[in-house]
Amino acid sequence: MKTTTQLLAAGLLAGSAFAATAVVAQEFPTQPVTIVVPFSAGGPTDTVTRLVAQAMSEDLGQQVVVQNVGGAGGTLGAGQVAAANADGYTLLLHHIGMSTAPALYASLPYDPVEDFEPIGLVTEVPMTIVARKDFEPETLEDLIAHVKENGEDVTYANAGIGAASQLCGLLFMDALGTQMTEVPYQGTGPAMTDLLGGQIDMMCDQTTNTTSQIQAGEIKAYAVTTPERIDVLPDVPTMAEGGIEDFELSIWHGLYAPAGTDQAIIDRLAQSLQTALADETVGTSFAELGTEPVAADDATPDALSERLSNQIELWAGVIEEAGVSAQ
Ligand code: ASP
Repeated sequence: MKTTTQLLAAGLLAGSAFAATAVVAQEFPTQPVTIVVPFSAGGPTDTVTRLVAQAMSEDLGQQVVVQNVGGAGGTLGAGQVAAANADGYTLLLHHIGMSTAPALYASLPYDPVEDFEPIGLVTEVPMTIVARKDFEPETLEDLIAHVKENGEDVTYANAGIGAASQLCGLLFMDALGTQMTEVPYQGTGPAMTDLLGGQIDMMCDQTTNTTSQIQAGEIKAYAVTTPERIDVLPDVPTMAEGGIEDFELSIWHGLYAPAGTDQAIIDRLAQSLQTALADETVGTSFAELGTEPVAADDATPDALSERLSNQIELWAGVIEEAGVSAQ
């Protein structure tokens, strides 16, 4: 049995450990913060992250550096952050792939719920179905007929299993009852370069990577995956207008820290995310790219936590129904 002195000493130690943690949280951040993007530089997740990181840097008074860790549909980068120190200095900005990967991979090097501390939702981005400029089909109806007729002769770029582009292609092929030849990249930034160069036929990707090229007429756009047409691409029809019903896809993005990060640090980061999303430059840049920041009450740990668990359940069902086998 412990003596009173031992108990007092233990209490003092626990108290000082608590005080030390509180000080660390209060002073956070005292060094640059890294946000890992699990895809290549120059792609849509990267673009969104760099805009948010810049505004968070200003709010936090420390540099927020973006690190691209592409590969395996976003699972490499996510795995790296899951294994990082839970000190608030290594974060992950990932999208819907956080919720689809568990259904697409037989085993993952991380658990999206257990291994992360959600900080907040960031944005919801529409997808566009696009093709190289000289691809034969002119409309979505033409495209459907062309893909049905040519199947595996059509090449389709994506960012690997678990990527939003892969999910969109999967749903598209499922809707058409046909297969295309999938060409994986470490992100859709480099895939866009090949689409512009005509080395690849098609892609489905976020407006944050396709809007300016569509507007400039450098690529063809067949459809947006939102229920209504979007302001920046008024001439691009919805999937339903082109005859594909019930095909709606919105790519939600969230910011995470490794599990075990101090709650006060998570709260500070969530507050900084909310400030960044309210920034005028961020709002204007997002709007030009066909999206908008989420409202402040969605840029919170609770909102992201709820979104993640609901979506894991939703996509497990959809992916199973589509009959896609786990890797
Ligand atoms: N848009 C990509 C995806 O398909 C990722 C990226 O490069 O940002 O998930």
